[in-house]
Amino acid sequence: MSVDLMDFDEVLARFDPVLGLEVHVELNTASKMFCGCANQFGSVPNTNTCPVCLGLPGSLPVVNAKAIESAIRIGLALGCQISPRCRFARKNYFYPDMTKDFQTSQYDEPIAFDGLVELEVDGEVFAIEIERAHMEEDAGKLVHAGGTTGRIGDAEYSLVDYNRAGTPLVEIVTRPIYGTGAKAPAVAKAYVSFLRDLMLALGVSDVRMEQGSLRCDANVSLMPKGATELGLRTETKNVNSLRSIESALHYEIQRQGAVLAAGGKVHQETRHWHEEGYTTPGRSKATAEDYRYFPEPDLVPVAPSQDWVDELRDTLPEPPHQRRARLQGEWGFTDLELQDVVNAGALEVIEATVAAGAAPASARKWWLSELARRANEAAIELSDLAITPAQVAAVQQLVAAGTINDKLARQVIEAVLAGEGEPDQIVASRGLAVVSDDGALSAAVERAIAANPDVAAKIRDGKVQAAGALIGAVMKEMRGQADAGRVRELILAQLG
Ligand code: ADP
Ligand code: MG
Ligand code: ZN
Repeated sequence: MSVDLMDFDEVLARFDPVLGLEVHVELNTASKMFCGCANQFGSVPNTNTCPVCLGLPGSLPVVNAKAIESAIRIGLALGCQISPRCRFARKNYFYPDMTKDFQTSQYDEPIAFDGLVELEVDGEVFAIEIERAHMEEDAGKLVHAGGTTGRIGDAEYSLVDYNRAGTPLVEIVTRPIYGTGAKAPAVAKAYVSFLRDLMLALGVSDVRMEQGSLRCDANVSLMPKGATELGLRTETKNVNSLRSIESALHYEIQRQGAVLAAGGKVHQETRHWHEEGYTTPGRSKATAEDYRYFPEPDLVPVAPSQDWVDELRDTLPEPPHQRRARLQGEWGFTDLELQDVVNAGALEVIEATVAAGAAPASARKWWLSELARRANEAAIELSDLAITPAQVAAVQQLVAAGTINDKLARQVIEAVLAGEGEPDQIVASRGLAVVSDDGALSAAVERAIAANPDVAAKIRDGKVQAAGALIGAVMKEMRGQADAGRVRELILAQLG
C-alpha cells in the first residue's frame, strides 16, 4: 500500500484545513439510557442485558433521568442553550451490535445547542462553536476473533457483547472550525483534552479514552487558499488517545493535500486510524436521508423545566480556564511556566502533587523534566506513568528534608517507576540516603585535598571557585550521596 503524502508545511502553504470534531462521551450513570441494566465496563459479556437493550419485540424504553441531568449539565458547561422540549429520534441502520436495527438518538431536536468553547493553544485563542450536544445510546461491541489485527477483515469469526448496548452517550458536535492553519492538529487535541477535563470536573463520565468512554471522530477537509466553499471531508473514526488525534489529523492533512495537488478529489468517507501512523478507508459516508430519521414513538418528549435547568446551572464546576488562572496565582507561576504545564498536560498531576504536600515549583520541576521525558519515551500521558502524585510529593519531601539530593531523587523516581515500592522504602533498601555524618564527609574531604594539592593551593590563595573540582571529587567518592553544600563548607573550613 503506497499512499502519497505532501509535506505538511507545503500543504499549509496552499490550503487551509477545516476541522469538525464529534466527541462521544459515555455517561457514568449507574444504569443504562433506557433500561435498568447496569452501565458497567468490563463485566462478563452479555450479562448486563434485558429485553429493552437486547431490542426484543414488545419491550419499551424509559429514559434515565440522571442521563438527562448529565446531558443538561454538559450543555450548560459548553455554553449551550438548553431546549425546553426535545424528542428522541430513530436512526435506522443495520447494526449487528444493536438488534433493534435503529439507534435511539436525537436528530433535529438536540437537548443542547449553540455553545462556545474558547481554547488557548500556544498563546493563541481559538473559538470553537458547538453546534449541538445530543443524547443517544451506544451500540454493543463486536469482537473479531481468530485473526491478528482484531479487525473484521482477517477474522475467523465475530462475537457480540451487548453489555454496552444502551449505554448513555452525549455526542458533542462542533461547527466547522476555520482558521487553525498549521495548528489544526494541536487545536483538535487541545479541544478533546479540554472536554476530558470538563467531563471530569462535571463528574459525568470516566472519560477513559483507552476504554472508549471518550471517543473522537475527527473530520477534516482542505480549502485551497482564497476559496470560500468547504472542501470534501473525511471522518477518522474512534481515535482513542489525545496523541492519536493529533497524529491522525496531521496524516489526513498530508494525504488530502497530496490528493488535491495531484488534481484528485477527496472521497467523502470514514477512515480508520492505525496506531502505526496511517489511516485507511472505511465505509463511504451515509447521508442523513439514508438513516430515515423519525421521532421515536415509544418515548415521551423531554421537557426540562426552567427551574431545574437553573438548579443544574448552580452545580457547574469552576470552568477549566478560570481554574488555570486561579492555580497560576496560587502557585506563583509565570505565564510561560503555566503554558508549559498546560502544554505538557501536567496541570492535574501538579495540582495533586501540591495537594500531597510538595512545593509548586518542585512539583513542576519533576513533572516537566524527568517524568515528562519518560512519558514521552513511552508515548503515554503523565497520569499513566507508574508513579503517583503522592509519590512524587514524597520524593520531594525527602529532598527538602536533606535525606536525598536531586541526583539521588532521580534514582528513587526510577525505582518507583520500576515498581520497587514507596520512595522511603527505596531509599532504605537501596541505601540512597545522603551521608550527613560530618566524620565520614571530613575524611573524604581530606582525601580529596591530599589527592589534588594544586587545587588546594589555589583555594588557599583565595581562588574559592576552584572548590568545584574538590566537591566533584568528594561527590564521586560518596557515589553522589553527599550534600554538596555541606561538602563545600567542609572544604573551605579545612583550607582556612
Ligand atoms: P456526520 O453524521 O456525517 O458525522 P455530523 O454533522 O454529525 O455529520 O458531523 C460532521 C462534523 O464535521 C461536524 O463537526 C461538522 O461541523 C464538520 N464538518 C461538516 N462539513 C465539513 C467539512 N467540509 N470539512 C470539515 N468539517 C466539516
Ligand atoms: Mg456524526
Ligand atoms: Zn437492559
